[in-house]
Amino acid sequence: MMDEGYNNRVPIIGVARHRLAVDGQGVTTLVAFHGCTLHCRYCLNAQCLRANGFSRTITPPELLDEVMIDNLYFLATGGGITFGGGEPAIRSGFIDAFCRMAPPEWHITMETALNVDRHHLERLLPHVHQYIIDIKDMNPGIYRRYTGYDNQCVLDNLQWLLSHDGMAERIVVRVPHIPDFNTDADVNRTREHLTALGISHIDEFAYARR
Ligand code: SF4
Repeated sequence: MMDEGYNNRVPIIGVARHRLAVDGQGVTTLVAFHGCTLHCRYCLNAQCLRANGFSRTITPPELLDEVMIDNLYFLATGGGITFGGGEPAIRSGFIDAFCRMAPPEWHITMETALNVDRHHLERLLPHVHQYIIDIKDMNPGIYRRYTGYDNQCVLDNLQWLLSHDGMAERIVVRVPHIPDFNTDADVNRTREHLTALGISHIDEFAYARR
């Protein structure tokens, strides 16, 4: 599906306002896109994987119109928009168009699994202030069993992001304990790998078994 430019419509799961310290600094509005590149076993937003799992479609100007209602909250708290999903990075054309119109003071956060073609990240780079990266497990075998896909492009994309000055400070990596897929020792190995890359903001947590 095309997502380029100001007039194209993309499917979204929903827009959630007035989020505080959940997924980005200050008061944020979460925009959750439909569609993902992975098939995680315990996906919390499984509707993003179903063909008809979206609530509506929207264009960048329409979204801006809708979220502008919280402009004063964003400015007062240093908050802004968090793009999630699904995998928001595959909507890079939409987000690029949106951010070109949005007030430059808004803080833009991207919740991404990074399993996307590099050109999406290149297009998003000028706009995104903070990345919340859902790394799953860095062991390729565990990653494949859990998501159904390889993680080589995730590792390459993470390295590429980190090649930009100051980027490590702008990245939070979420490291889950995944029941039946990884162990505490696997989680520790992922943590060590991330630390060796210079990442210090690591959010370790546990998925519920489903
Ligand atoms: S990356 Fe996130 S949205 Fe996509 S399948 Fe996995 S848990 Fe679901």
